[in-house]
Amino acid sequence: MNPMDDLELETLAVRAGIARSQFNEHSEALYLTSSFVFESAAQAAARFSGEEEGNVYARFTNPTVTAMQQRLAALEGAEACVATASGMAAIMSTVMALLSAGDHIVASHGLFGATQQLFGNILSRFGITTTFVPATDLDAYRAAVTPTTKLFFVESPSNPLTELVDVAAVAAVAHEAGALLAVDNCFCSPALQQPLKLGADLVIHSATKYLDGQGRVLGGAVCGSRVLVNEVFKFLRTAGPCISPFNAWVILKGLETLKIRMAAQSSSALELARWLEAQPQVARVFYPGLESHPQHVLAQRQQSSGGAIVSFEVKGGRAEAWRVVDATQVVSITANLGDTKTTLTHPASTTHGRISPEAREAAGIRESLLRLAVGLEAVDDLKADLARGLALI
Ligand SMILES: *Cc1c(COP(=O)(O)O)cnc(C)c1O
Repeated sequence: MNPMDDLELETLAVRAGIARSQFNEHSEALYLTSSFVFESAAQAAARFSGEEEGNVYARFTNPTVTAMQQRLAALEGAEACVATASGMAAIMSTVMALLSAGDHIVASHGLFGATQQLFGNILSRFGITTTFVPATDLDAYRAAVTPTTKLFFVESPSNPLTELVDVAAVAAVAHEAGALLAVDNCFCSPALQQPLKLGADLVIHSATKYLDGQGRVLGGAVCGSRVLVNEVFKFLRTAGPCISPFNAWVILKGLETLKIRMAAQSSSALELARWLEAQPQVARVFYPGLESHPQHVLAQRQQSSGGAIVSFEVKGGRAEAWRVVDATQVVSITANLGDTKTTLTHPASTTHGRISPEAREAAGIRESLLRLAVGLEAVDDLKADLARGLALI
């Protein structure tokens, strides 16, 4: 048995994946090297054939990347993990490794914009089709299955409306259809939700968000069984969208504070959500940690807190929403999320701006909607920052 198996997430976050070099360094070393030397021709041959384990070339493995992979696998409760250049590289590599022309994907509505583009406009050119279904409608997942369905792909909670997918229930539907379930766990991170324990086969991350948590680097990862992750690894080492050792090192260190960051940011988000609900200029608040959220019970079962993303509609339309954005002096006006710095976005004119107004309305993304990705500032400063704009409505 691995001595790490019994440890809690907080301990794994700072201890898992450490392999010290000959110098016995305490902090995790950063190996900025693209290739590795061998002691003999025989060793080179053995490494290349796979007879002997070890590093060959950084497109395949690098010790810093390996450390990050092991640490994230430990946090997700996964047998294995492979890191990628970005979250999108993780999604693309998963599909390229596990699907072929003629295969079909069932995906939840409200996926990250680039994921929707990838599934809807790019994979379709290579004969891989996708049916999008409402995230909360189990019958729709069932009805979308075809004889060629190989993969279910969901995100929970969804962006920006925080709709939850019942991961255990959708896993059962996927498995009944002989398909795999992949969950993009970007919004919760393993600190709040471990999809593999709920029955998912693969967990996908944009490490760019909460795993780094400080807005410094791009990265991604795929976690799951050794067999599935090895398939993704084989694609990656050949096709090349692998992570740089430097980015892996930044994320490795980011993971150390993941749990306390997520706890603090979620607790601030809950306080802000409650406060927003009480403001007369606010029409509606979307946050899984609120009793008013339609899936609050599922959120309590599936996540250890409501997370750090709060969306809300102001009374009025675009003009009123923009007034709140423009009156801020503390929060950052940006479409990114998962940072220690709070960010504020108007989805209808930015992240969801290229969707037709009708489709946007159908998706429930109104002109009056704002998305707040809560960081580590004092909650009172954030309230005051939002109150400035709300007072102008
Ligand atoms: C940002 C994001 C991605 C894409 O990640 P990149 O690292 O930007 O490629 C995928 N899924 C979700 C939910 C995201 O927020």
